[in-house]
Amino acid sequence: MQHSTMRGTPLHGPTRAARGRRRLAVVVAAWLAFAALLLGATGAQAQETDNSGVAGKTFVIGTDTTFAPFEFRDSSGELTGIDMDLIRAIAESQGFEVEIRSLGFNAALQALSSNQVDGVIAGMSITDERRQIYDFSEPYFESGVQMAVDQDDTTITGYQDLAGKTVVAKTGSEGEAYAKSIADQYGFTVNSLDQSATMYEAVKSGNAVAVFDDYPVLAYGVAQNNGLKTVTEKVPGGSYGFAVNKGQNPELLAAFNTGLAQLKASGEYQRILDKYLAAPQSAAPSTFLDLLTSSFPALMKGLGNTLLVTGISFAVAMVLGLVFGFFRVSTSKILRGIATVFVAVFRGTPLLVWAFFFYFGIPQLTGQPISIWVAGVLTLALNSGAYITEIVRGGIQSVDPGQLEAARSLGLGYGKSMQRVVVPQAFKIMTPSLINQLIIMLKDSSLLLAIGFAELLYQGQQIYAGNFRITETLFIVAVIYFVAIMALTWLANTADRRFNK
Ligand code: GLN
Repeated sequence: MQHSTMRGTPLHGPTRAARGRRRLAVVVAAWLAFAALLLGATGAQAQETDNSGVAGKTFVIGTDTTFAPFEFRDSSGELTGIDMDLIRAIAESQGFEVEIRSLGFNAALQALSSNQVDGVIAGMSITDERRQIYDFSEPYFESGVQMAVDQDDTTITGYQDLAGKTVVAKTGSEGEAYAKSIADQYGFTVNSLDQSATMYEAVKSGNAVAVFDDYPVLAYGVAQNNGLKTVTEKVPGGSYGFAVNKGQNPELLAAFNTGLAQLKASGEYQRILDKYLAAPQSAAPSTFLDLLTSSFPALMKGLGNTLLVTGISFAVAMVLGLVFGFFRVSTSKILRGIATVFVAVFRGTPLLVWAFFFYFGIPQLTGQPISIWVAGVLTLALNSGAYITEIVRGGIQSVDPGQLEAARSLGLGYGKSMQRVVVPQAFKIMTPSLINQLIIMLKDSSLLLAIGFAELLYQGQQIYAGNFRITETLFIVAVIYFVAIMALTWLANTADRRFNK
């Protein structure tokens, strides 16, 4: 990293500094514009939660990442499946719009509880526990839990062979509840994962011996050559329903029921089921290049979101860091105290806790949904703001106190001395650490996938959740991150050299 310490060297003139700042501004603006370009026309849509009638309204519907054949992405990255066709057909017949959010099963339920989405359709089983907190539509599909193992496994033929072994199930699912209910009896351990794709991968890689999942989903995966085979009979029960939060959106629920009845009467319902269940086609083998070209648009959209959320969050974090950094070196005990607490809290707690808190927690407390962008920016900015506070404090404190004394003795006031003499030097000292912080933030932004923020790794997950090509997809994602970070480092270093020469 190119950097020259300027301690004790003469100050540069204001025109040069101003030019440097302009250049920096241009670099930042170019970066944000690039991010916006990548995002293209895919701007966030307004969300509406009006409760009076459904016609003309837009409802936000949460769903699972992948639960084929109910929801999954086709080769062009579009969400399809029985649930998607059903909800879209019902929306059309009842005159409302839907905005689908592919969040993952557990996250979709959390989002529903905190009113971040208006409804959930995700092959969601109607259970007594869930009835306590959600209202369900009429059931639209009979399901049931089943167990599958690796297709070459001959040792596990039923629950009795599971003693001492580990099985996987999806977090918050009926399959997980069932596996846990018999785990003690058969002496096995249940490991919970968030996605179907990772569950199947865990079994194929030998990290678990079996997976508990719904039978139509296992059957579909087996037909798609996912490398598994089922070994038990399905457990009866588990009808799927469309869910809304208890007491919320009753008109949406009513419209779903009306629409469903109409689809059943017209034969359209059966046609949708047949389309996905009658003869599941096995996945055509495709090359790495096919994967690369088909996944590239979605990944670029993800990269755009990653860069944009990082850019905005870093700007906010800089403001926080400067304010609290000056508090840290202030002569006021109170200001120092405030800054110390700020740093302690946000440096002393994991980023992910805050992401969940802002996105799922705050709306539950206030009853007001919060935009995923606001939650994401708050999470990243507050965390980085704490680190930047310390960078700023360290920068200011490492400027030779003689510099301040000299400036004061020349007749400059404290404020002017800081602004003209100390801060410019401190800034040069801080720059490499700030660049580091920016890069850390760009990588940390991938954690936002846990709340369903459509950043780069999230897009990668969506892709391998559908095609089960985890290793290759992650490789592509890693290369994109690497290139983006190299480009960013180069940009930042260039700006540093110009600005801090
Ligand atoms: N039917 C199961 C449940 O409701 C699993 C749903 C899913 O994984 N999308 O718990």
